[in-house]
Amino acid sequence: MILMVRKMVMQMSKVTDQCRDIKELNILVQVLLNLALADIRKQGVNPLIVETYRSQERQNYLYCQGRTISEVTAKGINTTFATAYCCPRASKKTWTLNSVHKSRKAVDIVPQRMVDGRMTAIWNAKDKETQIIIQTMEKYGFEAGANWSCNPDSPHFQIKGDFTTSFMQNRNNKYITKAIQKALNKKLNIKLNVDGIWGIKTREAVNKFRAKQDYPFQNNGKLAKKALKDLFV
Ligand SMILES: [Zn+2]
Repeated sequence: MILMVRKMVMQMSKVTDQCRDIKELNILVQVLLNLALADIRKQGVNPLIVETYRSQERQNYLYCQGRTISEVTAKGINTTFATAYCCPRASKKTWTLNSVHKSRKAVDIVPQRMVDGRMTAIWNAKDKETQIIIQTMEKYGFEAGANWSCNPDSPHFQIKGDFTTSFMQNRNNKYITKAIQKALNKKLNIKLNVDGIWGIKTREAVNKFRAKQDYPFQNNGKLAKKALKDLFV
């Protein structure tokens, strides 16, 4: 019995900790994130990954911050969980029980640097190094929460979409598509319209890139792990 309770407490205490492991993310998001991080470091900024994958339980925990038990149980969180974690006096951490972090396609990043002799994470959207992180993440196809007109979330970056192991027509959002179109223009020295719509011309350009790289299945119109990396390096 004691063991069972201990196990329960251990499992519950995990919701208060964030996961920072890049390997918990979708494979394509990992590729783009690793390229972006290398680029950010090259520009002299020291990025700190604050969170990657988030379980539904942890999302529920965050939702409990700044809300009452009755508010969160009304949204379907059970009473035991709400009683354990609701903290109405805390500031609100999230607006939703949903998050792209749950689908392994979002990451939170802030810069860190020495302040008064201590390595310090900088949580300030207007900070110069934060701005470098935002611009660089956008270059690799991430949508920046900092630019949302409603509830901006400056450490947050995401690639929404119905993709798993490859990007292709009709599976992507405009941010990643624009980044891919720009990269194709650069690699192939062409002038695709950077409109965020993966139409026939973008598909043709992907195939042209695949042929140039001498990949097998040159006309499959897809960018999987290797092709994606080759396109953005
Ligand atoms: Zn986030």
